[in-house]
Amino acid sequence: MRFKQESTHLTPEQLLPNQSTPLKKISTIQIPPPTPPNPSFQYSTELQHYLSGRSLLPDELSFSIEDLHEHYLNGYITYGKGLNNYHCHRCGNRKKHLFARFNCFRCQGECTYCRNCIMMGRVSECTPLISWTGPPPTSVNLTLFDWTGTLSKAQQEASNRVVDTVKTNDNLLVWAVCGAGKTEVLFQGIHEALSKNKRVCIAAPRTDVILELSPRLQKVFPNTSITTLYGGSDDRHEYGQLVLTTSHQLFRYKRAFDFIVIDEVDAFPYSYDPTLKYAVEKARKSKSAIVYLTATPDSQTQKNCSSKKQNHIRIPARYHRHRIPMPRLVWCGNWNKAFEKNRIPSILKKWTLQRLQQNKQAFIFFPSVKIMEKALPLFQKLNPAIEAVHAEEPHRKEKVQKMRSGETPILLTTTILERGVTIPNIDVAVLGAEESIFTESALVQIAGRAGRSAEYPKGDVVYFHYGKTKGMINAIMHIYSMNKEAGKRGLIDG
Ligand SMILES: [Zn+2]
Ligand SMILES: [Zn+2]
Repeated sequence: MRFKQESTHLTPEQLLPNQSTPLKKISTIQIPPPTPPNPSFQYSTELQHYLSGRSLLPDELSFSIEDLHEHYLNGYITYGKGLNNYHCHRCGNRKKHLFARFNCFRCQGECTYCRNCIMMGRVSECTPLISWTGPPPTSVNLTLFDWTGTLSKAQQEASNRVVDTVKTNDNLLVWAVCGAGKTEVLFQGIHEALSKNKRVCIAAPRTDVILELSPRLQKVFPNTSITTLYGGSDDRHEYGQLVLTTSHQLFRYKRAFDFIVIDEVDAFPYSYDPTLKYAVEKARKSKSAIVYLTATPDSQTQKNCSSKKQNHIRIPARYHRHRIPMPRLVWCGNWNKAFEKNRIPSILKKWTLQRLQQNKQAFIFFPSVKIMEKALPLFQKLNPAIEAVHAEEPHRKEKVQKMRSGETPILLTTTILERGVTIPNIDVAVLGAEESIFTESALVQIAGRAGRSAEYPKGDVVYFHYGKTKGMINAIMHIYSMNKEAGKRGLIDG
């Protein structure tokens, strides 16, 4: 799309009567200051709901260019640059090698585009990003808050801090052990924000988390419009007062949110993709609150917490007031060699047989798919119902479901199940705990699978290893210190 530049406004080429006027790519135009919204203009509430707080390509809007332009001339939308000078304004990419040039049909010449966010539609030098500059949609309804649960003492303290953070537009890290009940800790803060007509976003790295949260939150906030976004979702066309989204979908938002929650911030692919940090900053309003949730902050974050550089609150105990099962270290010899000889390391075999005899379900975590596939037939000799899952496994969901229903006695898995999956009464083993994939955080998360339910608060957690590592020791220290703090603060019984 090219524009004719006039002193007070731009005109898209499609709306020009003759093609002889000089046309420019939006990347080379000095964008005129926005006109204030004309109060007598009848704006489209549909467009308002769709576009408010977002920054979208013309192709993502199902409105005619005539319609859009009228809103532009009346001060309700702006045309912004998609990219210029090797800077993508949607995803923040500034790495030259992540741009490419192509022969552009729209501007009829060579045009640069961003490769980093290409999966969301092409942003090029001639692509405008369109944003809403009119008033945001208002909800006149009183926000209903339908939650009758109670919070534990530690949850309540954290919840109060979240509410304060929302009120003061501050930031807070909630460091809550696995199974602490962190979602409930957000409810009062979300209600505080929604009831002031603020817009709230919960971003999580995994689609599973978003899919699980969505119905839960809809129940708690029954008259709040909730938008649920993940790669492949079809919920994109509604205005959500509360937006649940996976990380990448945040790229479409701009100055939208008064309160953002980043769930599992340590698993957020920040470190692989710095543009996600940009996406979060772009999506929040300049005055807004942000809450990070994690069970396993990385070492830098842990340091920032202890030096008080990072506002934080810890929930060191589970809501059921039992301590977190302490992992045991068990030497299992050269497990690699054992599997090569088609044997399960004998101590692991013994542990597995004990679970089978006691009818106790278990997860066994493997350091790689290769070893796990080698091991599976050996385990199936012990019991043919034993199964294995990994990331590329097409029947992953069904297999996890069979584990939940109790049909599968023991599930072999890679670190793919280190988070999120909750089975009430389960023991957990890690094979080759010294392998680099089993970081402190992975080992803490894995241990966190055991003892989750109030009915079965205990569970055996074993790190089978062929040599101790810092990661293993740190994981044990991590859990130990959480239990200790929980004891001191009176958050566990016995
Ligand atoms: Zn981009
Ligand atoms: Zn172009």
